[in-house]
Amino acid sequence: MPDLFDKFQPLIDQYEGLMASGMRDPFHLKMEKILSPTRAVVDGREIILVGTYNYMGMTFDPDVIAAGQKALEEFGSGTTGSRVLNGTYQGHAECEAALRDFYDMDHAMVFSTGYQANLGLMSAMAGRGEYIVLDADSHASIYDGCAMGNADIVRFKHNSVEDLAKRLKRIPEDAGKLVVLEGVYSMVGDIAPLKEMVAVAKEAGAMVVVDEAHAMGFFGENGRGVFEAAGVEDQVDFVVGTFSKSVGTVGGFVVSNHPKFDVLRFVCRPYVYTASLPPAVVACAATSIRKLMHAHDKRAHLWAASRKMHAELRAAGFTLGTAEAESAIIAVKMPDQERSAKMWAALIDEGVYVNMVPPQATPGLHLLRCSLCAEHSDAEVDEIIARFKRAAAAAGLPLST
Ligand code: PMP
Repeated sequence: MPDLFDKFQPLIDQYEGLMASGMRDPFHLKMEKILSPTRAVVDGREIILVGTYNYMGMTFDPDVIAAGQKALEEFGSGTTGSRVLNGTYQGHAECEAALRDFYDMDHAMVFSTGYQANLGLMSAMAGRGEYIVLDADSHASIYDGCAMGNADIVRFKHNSVEDLAKRLKRIPEDAGKLVVLEGVYSMVGDIAPLKEMVAVAKEAGAMVVVDEAHAMGFFGENGRGVFEAAGVEDQVDFVVGTFSKSVGTVGGFVVSNHPKFDVLRFVCRPYVYTASLPPAVVACAATSIRKLMHAHDKRAHLWAASRKMHAELRAAGFTLGTAEAESAIIAVKMPDQERSAKMWAALIDEGVYVNMVPPQATPGLHLLRCSLCAEHSDAEVDEIIARFKRAAAAAGLPLST
């Protein structure tokens, strides 16, 4: 009998090889206790978290927690149903109202995850004979949404305005086109040149989606994302986002000003054929979103911390993914798998958790992906930088000073 698992053997061998080297498992680190947005207990030891998506540190906000507890008590633990049948509660409507206010847009639709929001939007918005034009480094959920639909898929070189324009010119002028961009790219932490890209897309008559998953709460005067900071709010047709990062819980959404937007509630399969978010989750999300509108001080602190950590790691000789801090994500490039694993383990020994990301999940790079949180204190940022330097010495990592 053929074993259907045989095709995974190379991956199993690679993983077992890593474990045989005596290394701690970087992919299943168990957090025994979460003490705050920036601290956890692992193996009975307190560590600083420098690899979460908790950019704005909302997970322990007292108002968010109180809203979740109240909804849990008043509405129960789950909806046990789809949004279009039996899973739309007062809290889902309030959450969508919070999103409309946050983005100052006419329509908002909440999905159970950001992954599903992208699946739903990509697969439903562009059909047979239409085109999706996407950045080559797009998130897996965007690619999977394309694979689920029937549109023709065209990729352009990561962040290249020129290549985007070239690809758009080759598509028949009268064909429907959807250009998909991300504000911040999650692994390297670079941002898209949205002003130029949106101009090129609009000139070609395309509709534009921007996934602001890693920018919400942090970019722009109102925390809406890179599209706000770039001044293209009135030209973007859809913004996709998630509650699993700055909002601090789980869920996904799309917002838009298009007058026909609500028809998507019937045609997005990942919206229709899955259970809606639990009442406690949407209550937490709505409260967090409303607080993020006014989180100017948190935004300023996170920018200062990100710029400081980037500058000091660069000065210490680490090779970073971007020349300057473009977001709260700082990607430290490693020369190979072995040194990446060694440095990751040395950081854990120092009490610092970052994400070890293999080339399969990055644009071909071995990365130690770090992300800062608005709740990291100045002293914590100094401590993280000092521990990075000590870990590099312990791991024998050559620094280019
Ligand atoms: N879009 C981007 C750019 C992401 O990075 C992610 C998650 N890492 C998602 C969408 C999916 O978000 P969620 O966790 O809500 O499924």
